[in-house]
Amino acid sequence: MPAVRLFDTVKGGVVTLEATGEQSMYVCGITPYDATHMGHAASYVAFDLLNRAWRDGRQQVAYVQNVTDVDDPLLERATATGVDWRELAASQIELFQTDMEALNVLAPDHYVGAVEAVPRIVPAIERLVHQGLAYRVAGTAGEPDGDVYYDVEAAGKHSAEAEDAWTLGSISGLSDAEMLELFAERGGDPGRAGKRQALDPLLWRAAREGEPSWPGGELGEGRPGWHIECTVIAQNYLPSPFTVQGGGSDLVFPHHEMGAGHAYSLTGLPLARHFAHAGMVGLDGEKMSKSKGNLVLVSKLRAAGEEPAAIRLAILAHHYRTDWSWTEAGFTEAKERLRTWRSALAVAPERSAGPLISRLRTELSNDLNAPGALAAMDEWAAAALTRDASGPAEAARAADADAGSAVDAALVSDAVNALLGVEL
Ligand code: ZN
Repeated sequence: MPAVRLFDTVKGGVVTLEATGEQSMYVCGITPYDATHMGHAASYVAFDLLNRAWRDGRQQVAYVQNVTDVDDPLLERATATGVDWRELAASQIELFQTDMEALNVLAPDHYVGAVEAVPRIVPAIERLVHQGLAYRVAGTAGEPDGDVYYDVEAAGKHSAEAEDAWTLGSISGLSDAEMLELFAERGGDPGRAGKRQALDPLLWRAAREGEPSWPGGELGEGRPGWHIECTVIAQNYLPSPFTVQGGGSDLVFPHHEMGAGHAYSLTGLPLARHFAHAGMVGLDGEKMSKSKGNLVLVSKLRAAGEEPAAIRLAILAHHYRTDWSWTEAGFTEAKERLRTWRSALAVAPERSAGPLISRLRTELSNDLNAPGALAAMDEWAAAALTRDASGPAEAARAADADAGSAVDAALVSDAVNALLGVEL
């Protein structure tokens, strides 16, 4: 596998990930209340391709993922369904992990919950307060005293002298107006009274009646915000900076923007060298969302007897950075493709594996071009099947070769499993 070239959101172009021998990756995990829809699956499959490409290129990979096992949407869902939030989280985490295993996504080395990370998150927030980069907000009607926010303006000034310093917008490249719109859309609270800037994100939510909370040292009882959760977990388990911060494109702002800010404020170093993002998945051309009730769930497809390898292949037919729609037609095509590839294996032409595998590697090293790899496999399979179906002389020769080369079939099957994560 040549050195992987990957689209870096911050640089706005494809960069070469230096093959230093050691790579590290953090991919933001789920909030466990509606696992695992096709958008989740596509995102984790995308970064699984990177993990596999690195490993194929003899790189050691340290991979960490969080699970936001306490957060507003989880608590709301638990209340709405009358289930204890801990039970809801535990059952959805188990479902998610079963789905990931079925989809042949290599597990992270560390899978860390927000709850277990609280004892490490608290000192980090305390430090930000001491540095003057975070502040407490006084309570207003209905809200208690003591929510702690990150001061984006102070943090930007604090780090402004260094070359690789973080200032608001360095990750997302968005204008203030764009940031404000997305912040409100994606869980931020621009209108919260007492904040210094509308875009300041929450670091610590003071304890509320009826909500779970943990000891917060100088912060008082409460629970952590989402961005600081990922930052602290990543910094705890990975080098600073680590190689790639990954996630869906809806995490660019505010999540990855703020996480990068927190990290810089805490260490004076960037969080990650590169930021990469997977596109969004819709259903039949519409945005997939809980509120529309049109989530395609991996577990439901599995329960209906669908083969996970076909689900994975349906995902891989789309380049990871594109926004695309799950459709029945696309899924049918994936199932047909899987059947074709399997039939072709039985008649694998001799010495055909080598050139195919090097083409798969070239495609995947080029910004994880899975559709290109699928096309290479399609051509190989078509050639194998055509040769098998050709004239009597050819057929006799094929019969001599025991209807295909077992060595080449094994090599192709191993390569497709190792590089694309599809078991033939
Ligand atoms: Zn995250």
